[in-house]
Amino acid sequence: MQQDRIHIRKVLVANRGEIACRVMRTLRRMGIESVAVYSDADAEAQHVLAADEAHWIGPAPATESYLDMARILAVAEQAEVDAIHPGYGFLSENAEFARRCAAANIRLIGPPPEAMEAMASKSRAKAIMGEADVPLVPGYHGDDQTPERLLEHAREIGFPVLLKAALGGGGKGMRLVPQEAEFMDALEACQREARAAFGDDHILIEKYITQPRHVEIQVFADMHDNAVYLFERDCSIQRRHQKVVEEAPAPGLDDATRRAMGEAAVRAARAIGYVGAGTIEFLLSASGEYYFMEMNTRLQVEHPVTEMITGLDLVEWQVRVSEGQPLPQAQEQLTRQGHAIEVRIYAEDTAQGFLPSTGTIEHLHMPAASEYVRIDSGVVAGDEISVYYDPMIAKLIVWGDSREAAIRRMLRALQQCHLAGVATNIGFLRSLIEHSHFQSGAVSTHFIEDHAADLAYDPPQPAAREYILGALLISTLPLAGSGEPWQELSGFQLNDFPAQRVLFEAADGPLAVDLELQGGSVTARCGEETYRLDVRRDGDELDVAGDFNLRVRGYCDGDRVALFTAAGLIRLVRYQYRHAQQDSDSDQHLKAPMNGRVVHIAVTEGQQVAKGDLLVTVEAMKMEHSIRAHKPGRVKAVFHQAGDLVSADAELIELEIDEEE
Ligand code: ADP
Ligand code: ADP
Ligand code: MG
Repeated sequence: MQQDRIHIRKVLVANRGEIACRVMRTLRRMGIESVAVYSDADAEAQHVLAADEAHWIGPAPATESYLDMARILAVAEQAEVDAIHPGYGFLSENAEFARRCAAANIRLIGPPPEAMEAMASKSRAKAIMGEADVPLVPGYHGDDQTPERLLEHAREIGFPVLLKAALGGGGKGMRLVPQEAEFMDALEACQREARAAFGDDHILIEKYITQPRHVEIQVFADMHDNAVYLFERDCSIQRRHQKVVEEAPAPGLDDATRRAMGEAAVRAARAIGYVGAGTIEFLLSASGEYYFMEMNTRLQVEHPVTEMITGLDLVEWQVRVSEGQPLPQAQEQLTRQGHAIEVRIYAEDTAQGFLPSTGTIEHLHMPAASEYVRIDSGVVAGDEISVYYDPMIAKLIVWGDSREAAIRRMLRALQQCHLAGVATNIGFLRSLIEHSHFQSGAVSTHFIEDHAADLAYDPPQPAAREYILGALLISTLPLAGSGEPWQELSGFQLNDFPAQRVLFEAADGPLAVDLELQGGSVTARCGEETYRLDVRRDGDELDVAGDFNLRVRGYCDGDRVALFTAAGLIRLVRYQYRHAQQDSDSDQHLKAPMNGRVVHIAVTEGQQVAKGDLLVTVEAMKMEHSIRAHKPGRVKAVFHQAGDLVSADAELIELEIDEEE
């Protein structure tokens, strides 16, 4: 494919969040003007502030804004951009959008539409890759979709099998079928999910590879028949088929396999006339065979680990290739150095089944960026994590000259990620990286499942010192650094020292911390323990010296304190003389766990249900959550229907619990 060379001076970034910010960073460095688009939910978002120009494109739901092709193209024409960068997600793999850009004479920074189409369906992609001599996961990816025929194919492949939506992505539309008896039900569920999420219920079947690793190859091709691979990334650490930790190089991968996979990936790219950045995903079996899984025809979320080990800027390469320039480097020139690890920081409550968490980020403090530590984020304190978009808050990427060094740096950096307001997986990520099997490189896509018990994050529990630190943060005493130095007050507080009692909720009732300002220091009492401390409070930072020495950051919001200790986040709640209402009627009244959309109602009024039966499926932030009966009973009322938007705690189902014998 040969296209004229152009000079890109202005680019519209058709995305939001961290990736929009990241793309604009490179554009700015290259002297290219950037144009942001934003929805109602994002009027003050970081990507809007980072751009040279910003345009409103519609209401919060992505279908009415970030996915509105006509609207985005209208803005692109009005702003007279030369090109559009689609980021990942949204329109990044949409061939129709690519065609419409071409028709409007705007370059889409991505592959040609034909290449997107070839890879859009996992079935078609597998057919093409088979022809190009790229090894495939054994399976069936044909057109015959009658359930009976599919079952026959599954039998031939041998159980367990994996059902996949041909148009699936983001870990959605996949079902593991351990044995034949479950096949038909799983097929139906998979087709329903595929129809709802991708508007198409074409299914393919793959042999389920046990204990594999996910190893993917970054490829790049230009318009002059050059194609190279930029080594691999290991993305085995996943939860529900969504990547959580990614690293490069893949631990323990030998050079021969690396080269073989790289060359297969380049063959794959050539087979479809690929241009730009792309990723070929492989499964690597325990015995070292690799199989093509799918190709992502865009920049990947985890591209920074490749940048860290190669020293390259992949967005710059994308722009250059789109301008019609040849690839900046040939295969022999590409080198890698050291080891990089990325973790995805999600707004989710890991203690509550990884439930996405929405709300305002009240407090956000990240480790300082350096040559070795990179933070790709699109939010600041005060921003909202809404139900409309992906729950990823930021990516934390570190580099070290060895894997051990990178791990050490990651643990330190995670300790310095301080976030309050929404629940996050930061504690869980720490347990993951600390795990001895992760540290030894024994990773597989089952890692999180297999080690669930070890990974269940136990938040550190407060002891007297933490309650004291919490009290010092809440305290209205004139501590040093807090604006009015205590010295000014000491003149009229001769014998009667300023003192304050703070009560916290503890496991067995209220717990008191007594603080007394005396001379230059604070006497703090909690239970049996008494400490004399010199305290300095500087904004959200406490500097404590004396009977113990500590520097911590904390955040107070009304009656709640978040204390960021070295062991992790500790939450304290001020005691309030209220009686926590025992929610015994939660068996009877089943509520939405968060803001979201009802996608499926599994029961009707009057129906008898058993304990554990599925009642309702609610979707939020690209994930489905099943609401199940806690106890056997009869459905008394169904309050919503599929498609309804519901807010957290909205009642969905009322059950009449069966009388217990
Ligand atoms: P995959 O799982 O397909 O290999 P990624 O892990 O890179 O790819 O991303 C999963 C899917 O979710 C992709 O379609 C990606 O574009 C989308 N996605 C992931 N994170 C975000 C985000 N923060 N915002 C928007 N889309 C996202
Ligand atoms: P998506 O488009 O959602 O990214 P993929 O086909 O890339 O879907 O698969 C996502 C993940 O599911 C993989 O990274 C891997 O962990 C797991 N997976 C996919 N296919 C298989 C398989 N045949 N056997 C075992 N695990 C698989
Ligand atoms: Mg994938």
